[in-house]
Amino acid sequence: MNCSPANSRWPNQNPPMSQNPPATSARPASVVSRRGFLAASSAALITGSLAATTTKAAESAAGSKLALLGGDKAVRIPPTPKIRWGDLERERFNAMLGQDTLFYWKGPQTTLALERFRKVCPLKYAHTCSSGTAALHIAVIAAGIGPGDEVITSPITDIGTVIGVIYQQGVPVFADLGAGTYNLDPADVERRITPKTKAIIAVHLCGNPCDMHALKAIADRHKLVLIEDSCQAWGAKFRGQPIGTAGHITCFSLQNSKHITCGDGGVVASSDERFGPLLQKSGDKGSDRSKAGGGFQMFATNYRMSEPQAAVLAAQLERLEGIAGKRARLGNLLTEKIAGLPGVRPHQVHRDDRCVYWFYFFRIEPTAFRCNRAEFVKALAAEGVQCGAGYIAVPLHREPVFLKHGFFAGRWPVREMGLTTMDFSKHQTPEAEAILQTGIRITIQENMTEDYILGAAEAVRKVARHYAT
Ligand SMILES: *Cc1c(COP(=O)(O)O)cnc(C)c1O
Repeated sequence: MNCSPANSRWPNQNPPMSQNPPATSARPASVVSRRGFLAASSAALITGSLAATTTKAAESAAGSKLALLGGDKAVRIPPTPKIRWGDLERERFNAMLGQDTLFYWKGPQTTLALERFRKVCPLKYAHTCSSGTAALHIAVIAAGIGPGDEVITSPITDIGTVIGVIYQQGVPVFADLGAGTYNLDPADVERRITPKTKAIIAVHLCGNPCDMHALKAIADRHKLVLIEDSCQAWGAKFRGQPIGTAGHITCFSLQNSKHITCGDGGVVASSDERFGPLLQKSGDKGSDRSKAGGGFQMFATNYRMSEPQAAVLAAQLERLEGIAGKRARLGNLLTEKIAGLPGVRPHQVHRDDRCVYWFYFFRIEPTAFRCNRAEFVKALAAEGVQCGAGYIAVPLHREPVFLKHGFFAGRWPVREMGLTTMDFSKHQTPEAEAILQTGIRITIQENMTEDYILGAAEAVRKVARHYAT
């Protein structure tokens, strides 16, 4: 892939909202220019239809009085509970219980699960492991990250993205994000590259693919390993290609909250001959199971997944396309119905990508409303929308353990030894900060109906109109 970064930049990757970052990271969200915000949010349209084409029926039925103030709810029928497992899982479980071993190596369930995994993510080397965090740690070990090596990643993610980096004594470096995609801003990634940089971990937040063309071009130019954190992106597609196939190594989570799950688990995969052959032993105490008595050539911990989990995984993979396709449709429909609404910036997805909306994340422009975000969310919830304010509380580097550099019994050996001068208390990612302060998440689930989403969109419009300045 040698797409030039200029060609592969998304439109609006750096919309006006991210211009003139202030000196402090705690920028009050109100400094955002209204004109810039509106330009960016309307440019974020992923469909041709405009907000003017609202569902007239839903609008008149719900009326304009907020449910919070005693009006009718915009959502009339709440979603039915999600049914996550059934006969597919039962069948695999029965097969598994007939086995005389539940160990992963050459296990029938693990073998079947990986065969099915390769159908959704066709990579040569693929291995199960105990979690998404484990998959990422394995990837970082295979990438050769060692003491003092810098790994650039997103500050808005699950902490599991960087746990492996820190355990390998590497140094996570947080780059800033696109204002509408909430994914790594390739230009800021490139600015943060130093001679110590060894890898990039691209987090496909909410299942929205990162700009992999731009990130791959940067990785190639600087000889970096490009790892994909696809934990929230099961079934997503980047420019029509399965998520996880554009970088060097990809990592998935099967934790209970993810699109498909086996309670806890992960998959790590690669087609790169430098890294792929290292994945199995990097998650299995350094031991190469394909060679009898191979001894310990390398050091790693035990991140194995056993057959009961693999049985559930194999069944869940059969459900994936249905789940991913439905979530993509519902999320895109929501965008279509709230696009162009003053003060509201929909989740920005490239038109040739498939976002699988682990959740839907939109932003409100603070000066456009007479209410604060908490009040906006309260009014939305009263309309019957499953929603919440923000995602993680603060960018990862602003969490106490980072501010204190207290990773290992309160200490951070690589800093004490002078292998890094990283000071997380001085690290700044102003756009990430602003995203977490102005973002509202709406739950998207495959059991939801289009009617529910139309109701949720009507709720956003109703609340936005009611509080408009
Ligand atoms: C869930 C998640 C992880 C960690 O996965 P676990 O299975 O919980 O360890 C890592 N990164 C992202 C983006 C995630 O959403």
